[in-house]
Amino acid sequence: MQYDEIMVRYGELSTKGRNQKNFIDRLGANVTKALHGFDQVKIHPQRDRMHIDLNGADSSQVMDRLKQVFGIQTFSPSLRVESDFEAVKQAAAKMIREQVKEPATFKISTRHADHGFPMGTFEMNRELGAYLLKEFPDLLTVDVHHPDIDLMVEIRKSGIYLTSEKIKGAGGLPVGTAGKGMMMLSGGIDSPVAAYLAMKRGVSLEMVHFYSPPYTSEQALAKSKELTSKLAKYCGSIKFIQVPFTEIQETVKEKIPEGYLMTVQRRLMLRLAAALAMKRHGLAIFNGESLGQVASQTMESMVAINDVTTWPVLRPVLSFDKTEIIKIAEEIDTYELSILPYEDCCTVFTPPSPKTKPNLKRARAYEARLDVEGLMQRALENIKVTEIHAGDEFLNQNQDVFAELL
Ligand code: ATP
Ligand code: MG
Repeated sequence: MQYDEIMVRYGELSTKGRNQKNFIDRLGANVTKALHGFDQVKIHPQRDRMHIDLNGADSSQVMDRLKQVFGIQTFSPSLRVESDFEAVKQAAAKMIREQVKEPATFKISTRHADHGFPMGTFEMNRELGAYLLKEFPDLLTVDVHHPDIDLMVEIRKSGIYLTSEKIKGAGGLPVGTAGKGMMMLSGGIDSPVAAYLAMKRGVSLEMVHFYSPPYTSEQALAKSKELTSKLAKYCGSIKFIQVPFTEIQETVKEKIPEGYLMTVQRRLMLRLAAALAMKRHGLAIFNGESLGQVASQTMESMVAINDVTTWPVLRPVLSFDKTEIIKIAEEIDTYELSILPYEDCCTVFTPPSPKTKPNLKRARAYEARLDVEGLMQRALENIKVTEIHAGDEFLNQNQDVFAELL
């Protein structure tokens, strides 16, 4: 069915009191970005709802894009008719004819926003209900408590709107309302899921990715960029910051005892992420750590690593089991990419048995053997920032290698 309007409900937003205006403005901007390319569409963000005037744009394509915008609780594609009961009857009958193929129960719920219209809510429910029952005697019966179809009628100044569907949106809060965070993105399964969950709570992210050529390949870098492009569909575009990590890894390997390689390496990663957060006005650092999953993700390790910064380090998947993380990765379509076998910089330098309970004082002492300032400065001088948009492709450029690995 070709609809005239999509009506958007905010859900959690309506409870945000004084911030409400910021939230709605941001959601309006994010929806505009998500609907880029649909030039005829007009967006009207209002206090209680947002109305998206389709002006002939394909409603199912528009709805596919809306499903990816955080801050939308539900939305309903609607038909618009003139403020006239005859027209309402015709449109309602058309909807039933097109959408109901087997006997079903229904009810009418009317919402009145234009007090100039002569029929009241109760009268509309009753008259329209009676009309539809007469029109479809073998198809429809009334059930006001648990109807199969809830035909919603909204009487507004600009006309009367009818809808029978309430589609679940992405939930969460509009990206950008929580401020900016730096996401430590590897090519693994966990960090893309953590990124998704952070964005869902309104954080706008910049990706920080450490790479170590020639120990890590071009494909490993391309894979992280492609993961970023998958995640960009929730916010339009994401800045991807690649940080050269080769010199640090080689130096750490040379100067630090094997049991503390990983701890010290991670301390440097976090130092760099924190430096970038400060420089680029990020409010927190996000990573994909899950408690107890591997050696570096014990609480003892967190003590020994987190020591390098007072900036908040937030871990959206901390309490998730691997299977729960994988489930989300599949839903957001990052899983298949994440399991491609390109080595990232951690796997290459991971010792066979890193300490699961590193000691903070020792970690500090070993790290002091390094020229931390110099190493960091050289890495930061050579970062490269790319703006990645939803749908950008990076791995296809290496199709041959890609095909071989599959
Ligand atoms: P993931 O699946 O996200 O790679 P993991 O379970 O493999 O996580 P680790 O390899 O120990 O765990 O990494 C823990 C976290 O450290 C990652 O989730 C990510 O946030 C960060 N991290 C690891 N390697 C990199 C990298 N090369 N660049 C940026 N961040 C990284
Ligand atoms: Mg990993």
